[in-house]
This record gives sequence, C-alpha cells and structure tokens, in this order.
Amino acid sequence: MQARSRQLFSILLLTTVLACSVSADTVEVAFSGGKQNIAAYRQNRITYLSFSELAEILGGTLDWETVGHQISYTDGVNRFDFVLNSPFFKLNDNSYNMTFPADLRNGQLYLPAETFVSFLNGALPQSISFNGEQALLRIDSEYFNVTDLVVARKANGLLIEILLTGALPYEIFQTEGNWLNVSITNGRINQSQIESRKDSRYMYKLSTHQAAGSGQVSMRLKGKVQKFHHKLAYNPPRIQITIADAGFSLDTSSTTPIVGPDDKIDVIVIDPGHGGSDYGAIGPGGTREKTVVLEIARELAKLIRKDKQFRVVMTRDRDRYISLDQRARIANDAGADLFISIHANASVKKKARGWNVFFLAPAKNDSARSVAQFENSFFLKERSALEAHRGDSASPPDEYGLENPILSILNEMIMTEFQAESHDLAMMLAREFRKNLKIPSRGVDQAGFFVLNKVFTPSVLIEAGFISNKKEEKTIKSSKFHKRVARAIYNAIKKFKAKYESKNQDKSG
Ligand SMILES: [Zn+2]
Repeated sequence: MQARSRQLFSILLLTTVLACSVSADTVEVAFSGGKQNIAAYRQNRITYLSFSELAEILGGTLDWETVGHQISYTDGVNRFDFVLNSPFFKLNDNSYNMTFPADLRNGQLYLPAETFVSFLNGALPQSISFNGEQALLRIDSEYFNVTDLVVARKANGLLIEILLTGALPYEIFQTEGNWLNVSITNGRINQSQIESRKDSRYMYKLSTHQAAGSGQVSMRLKGKVQKFHHKLAYNPPRIQITIADAGFSLDTSSTTPIVGPDDKIDVIVIDPGHGGSDYGAIGPGGTREKTVVLEIARELAKLIRKDKQFRVVMTRDRDRYISLDQRARIANDAGADLFISIHANASVKKKARGWNVFFLAPAKNDSARSVAQFENSFFLKERSALEAHRGDSASPPDEYGLENPILSILNEMIMTEFQAESHDLAMMLAREFRKNLKIPSRGVDQAGFFVLNKVFTPSVLIEAGFISNKKEEKTIKSSKFHKRVARAIYNAIKKFKAKYESKNQDKSG
C-alpha cells in the first residue's frame, strides 16, 4: 500500500470506528475467532488498559505484592515486574521505561497501551499491536495455543486430534448426552477454526468455551462412546483421542475381544522368547537363547503348576517358531493376568553382563532402546521375510499397527493402561533377582517391545543375563541357574498376587 493510500485507509477506518461505538472505558481485544472488551480509560491522550484483564486473556498470572507495590506478570516464559506509579518495569530482569507510570484503579493494574504494548509484542511469541484511535488491541493468530481439530474415520474407530502449539496439560471427561469434553489447562482456543471442523457425519455438535485459565472443546458425538483412549502426541504437538467402535478388537484379523486382568491374579502366561528358526542371540560357546529361555520357562511352569492357585499357559513349550502376534493372542485368549517374556541378552561389548527386567514404555535411555531394538529386530526380520515370501512388499499385512495410526495409538494406550502394574511387577522381580541370582544387576528399565505391545495385561520382559559374555554364557546354560531364575520369578508372582488381590478386595469391600 502506498503511503498516501495507507493514510486514507487509516482515516476511513477512523471515521468508521468513530461512527460506530468507541467507548472510552473499554479496549477491544481482537484475535482470530474471538474478541473481548477489557476495561480502559484515557488520560492525556494515552489509553490505559486494564492489564489485569488482559493477563486473563493472555493466560498468564499476576502476582501482587503489597509491600513495595510490586506486581509481576508471568506466562511461564517471561516475567514482567511493575511498580505502581512508576514508568520503569523489568522484563526478565532487564529494566525498561514505558514513559507513563503503571496505575492502580479499582484494584486493577492499568498500563499505558501506546507505550507498553510494543514491549509485550517483543516478548510474547504472538504479534500484538495497539491502535489508540480504534481502541483496539490486536493479537494475531499465533496467540492461540489450541489451534485446530481434525477428525478422521479409521478402520476400527474414530481418531480425533486437537492440535496445539506445545504440550499442555488436559483432562477428558464424558457428560450426559454423549458429550466428550477436553479441558485444556492454559489453553487459548482458536474457537472459530475449531468450531468450523464440526463434521456432521460423526458429531451433532462441536463447541468451544474459553475461560481465563483454561479452554474447553466439547463434542456431542453420534456414535456411542464406550471405549476411548487419549494421549499427548508430538510432532506436531496434539491431543489424540481414539474412540473404538463397539465390539472393536485390536487385531483386525481376529475376533479376540480385549481381555484385561480380572480381580483374581491366577492366569500366568510364560513366554519363552524366539524358537524354531529364530535362534535369538547366540553365545560365543554356541549357546542359543531360544534353548536356555525355554529351559527357564519350563522350570518356572513346573513351580507354578505345583501351586494350585495358579494356571499356567506357555506360548511355546517346545522348540518351535511362533510369531509375536501369536504370542499375544495366546495370552489374550487365555485371559492372562500376568505375562512374562523370558530372554537372554547379547551385546557386541563382550564384557557386558547382568540381568535386566523391562516393562513396556517408551525407552528412556540408549541401552534400553538397544535391547528393545535387538529383540524387535527378530520381529522385523520375520516381517520382511513374510513380505518377501508373499512377493507383495507394496501392501504387507499391517498386523502390528505400525502403519495404521489408530492401531498403534490404541496399542500405546493399552500398554500405558497397565504400565504402573507392569512397573511394579518388574520391581518385585528385580528384588527377587538381587536376592537370588549371582550375576550382576542392571536393574529395571523401560523400553518398547513389540511382544509386550499387544498383551492386555501387566507384562514384563526379562533378560536373564548376557549370553554374549563368555562367563555368563556358562552360568546361563546351567540348570542350577534356570532353577534359580524360575524360583525368583515365582516369588515375585506370589508377591504381586498378594498385593493386587488385597487391593481389589479393598475396592469391592
Ligand atoms: Zn530375545
């Protein structure tokens, strides 16, 4: 725009605004999708706006200190310190001068808009500008941190994603009339954008509500919400809500219902890793992981079977190949209350030794990640072999939901459902191992194991020791060691049972 026409444009705007209602005691705060009036007053051609009210819109907090008349504003990133009747303020500990003093009126902090807003603009991520003639404070769209909503129909349910500019705490709750509500702490909602996403195929209503410290998105869905899961996902940051169809089971190729543990902990599924053509790790002396883990599993099954309060199911009881999917299906079909996968570790570092107990959760460190990668690699090999065999690498069956977002999301959600119990079981196992095993402890860790991912019950993966270490390979081979490991696992199972069954009784009584 040319300077002249810009001037003309301003005059036009000015006349329009004058013709409409410019009230001296408010400033309009405009953001895409919403506007709100905040208190203001004019003095010597300067607009003082209520920063107390603006702070609510911006989502930060004001703290008043009676002594010294200091007021601070923080938004989690920036901190402003104002002193009443002083034009000086601090922004993140640097001093600035806004020419006109901060004022207190009716218990609210007022700041000179014409000279202060540029500081605000410089500090906050969104661009903020003030037009005195229009009594208008404009905040551009980056102001919102809850920016959009996407609904997608997936094979087995509905995927709803609420897009954020960064991680925010939130809560999801259902209310009568099939409403699903997402309340986002410090959420500043782009209301018009989100409400425009109402998809009448899936929802009767989509509404938003903006409050000072939180924003809410509410959906009245057409399909009855029975099972839903949610989590915060990243890249881009978003809240993912998956609503499973009625009767939905994770595995598209089976009709297995989602089975969870009941009140009694009596069905123990033992899963000896690998088997058949899958040898697992191989030690320098030729010991195969598939063999030793089967021996440990047999010892364990023997022990548990003697104890009549348990029922044992083994995913394999001989040397045969069995896919990860089959393992999970065996466990789920059996109504497993605990799932224990037994493995032996291997490393290129020949000195690496010790046992590990893992539960399923995103890996927190490289060493845990590498163990998971190693165990998962057998599955990946199995998968690519399968694809090569079918000669159809373009559309392999996606049994594990790796490429199907809703399946992998549901998988993740289910795994976190039992995360606390799985962690607890892992800790109990570690305690027993420390007491009973004579090889070093590498402790409890978390990582993403495919085999645990589809088992709907507390589950752990044990790496009994390093088969790649010469000394430990000998230990791991011995039947004495198999018995020791089995005994330790059995003790931990009993402790777990005692703890959680009494918990369940507390709940029901
Ligand atoms: Zn293994």
